[in-house]
Amino acid sequence: MTTKIQEFLEAVVRKNPGEIEFHQAVTEVVESVMPFIEENPKYEEARILKRMVEPERVIIFRVPWVTDKGEIKVNRGFRVEMNSALGPYKGGLRFHSNVNLGTLKFLAFEQIFKNSLTSLPMGGGKGGSDFSPKGKTDNEVMRFCQSFMTELQRHIGPDTDVPAGDIGVGAREIGYLFGQYKRIRNEFTGVLTGKGLNWGGSRIRPEATGYGCVYFVEEMMKTHDDSLQGKVCTVSGSGNVAQYTVQKLIQLGAKVVTVSDTQGYVYDKDGIDQEKLDYILVLKNIRRGRIREYAEKFKCEFHEHQRPWGVPCDAAFPSAYQNELNGDDARKLVANGCRAVGEGANMPTTPEGVRVFLNGKVLFGPGKAANAGGVATSGLEMSQNSMRLSWPMEEVDRRLHEIMIAIHKNCVKYGRDADGFVNYVKGANIAGFIRVADAMIDQGLV
Ligand code: NDP
Repeated sequence: MTTKIQEFLEAVVRKNPGEIEFHQAVTEVVESVMPFIEENPKYEEARILKRMVEPERVIIFRVPWVTDKGEIKVNRGFRVEMNSALGPYKGGLRFHSNVNLGTLKFLAFEQIFKNSLTSLPMGGGKGGSDFSPKGKTDNEVMRFCQSFMTELQRHIGPDTDVPAGDIGVGAREIGYLFGQYKRIRNEFTGVLTGKGLNWGGSRIRPEATGYGCVYFVEEMMKTHDDSLQGKVCTVSGSGNVAQYTVQKLIQLGAKVVTVSDTQGYVYDKDGIDQEKLDYILVLKNIRRGRIREYAEKFKCEFHEHQRPWGVPCDAAFPSAYQNELNGDDARKLVANGCRAVGEGANMPTTPEGVRVFLNGKVLFGPGKAANAGGVATSGLEMSQNSMRLSWPMEEVDRRLHEIMIAIHKNCVKYGRDADGFVNYVKGANIAGFIRVADAMIDQGLV
């Protein structure tokens, strides 16, 4: 690490104490982008990086709500409006007990580059609460969402800031949040994405992150004249991203052998087919049960409180949570012959894990590129809302696929090393940076 990078990072740590995940996300970007900035002094003169790590605005608010038993609870709500150089702030809401300002700043920072990579007009933002919907009734979740939106509504709007879902925020939560926004503002607008199909949602939005991630990995494999057909794949998580990653992998002829949740992972040697996936969709999205039940139903192995990275595979798709795949996990994957990794989740691989993959010449698709299909399709939802049109499934999927191919191409353009190996981390960071940085320069010192 050069002195310049070190000094920059030390200043970020001093200014944002204790925000470990934010430091991690900034470190990865700065290490990739600083050499490029040194070759292009206009970015240094405009202090672009220094401005990018400072949120344009952070909103923190109280969210009081009442349980079914009449007990009063108080949670904390956040919206980090990180960068609006390319368009309205855009990024999901996360409802999870571990949420804090540092987590959301890391996610909002990542979002700037991810949204830039999509080439759509979207700035970067992220929000959420330390509220967990797990174990709550529908009525409790509704009351929480209504209270959360009662404050958030004054800060967002279809041309200002357009939140979406993330961990703990799915179709149910988006519905309750949208209903409250509409009630307070008396407006039916595209203020949230991930809406229901019959009230302004886009086709393919639920599928988009998982499908997009698989499209991206497919592009990486093509550079080695290979494909996903017949490949053994491991997936972590069993939520929105994992579900549709599994579905697209099945469609492309791959064999998916794992899924997981916070309690452990399932190892299904025979592979998960569409029928078994349908069971997971009902289990996780409707019954809100545990993935262990899959192992019981289909008589396969369940590994309690373990992660699936010791299972031999050709390609791995971490699709659950940040830092869920560490250096040891990465070494196991490489030793077992894993040739490609697509990060469906945001920052699921630790910095050491990333180094292991890059040193092992694994095709490594970082989250800000590989999982950008979700926000890209949110962008398409915003366009459809503005036009008051609803595109057919084939059209949205085609656009999503084209966007993922274009992101891959852009990563290759900026990520190719002297020996020909493509470092997609570097490529994604630099490609994402340029578009935002140029817009910031054009817009003056704001
Ligand atoms: P969901 O809430 O639908 O699913 C989350 C999954 O992760 C569940 O299987 C959950 O298990 C598991 N999980 C939650 N917390 C932890 C933890 N601490 N350790 C290990 N596993 C955990 O969320 P999504 O599928 O939407 O999001 C998954 C990841 O993808 C996140 O990193 C998110 O930021 C990222 N992402 C999501 C996008 C989207 O469009 N939804 C877009 C781009 C990125 P359990 O059921 O036990 O809680």
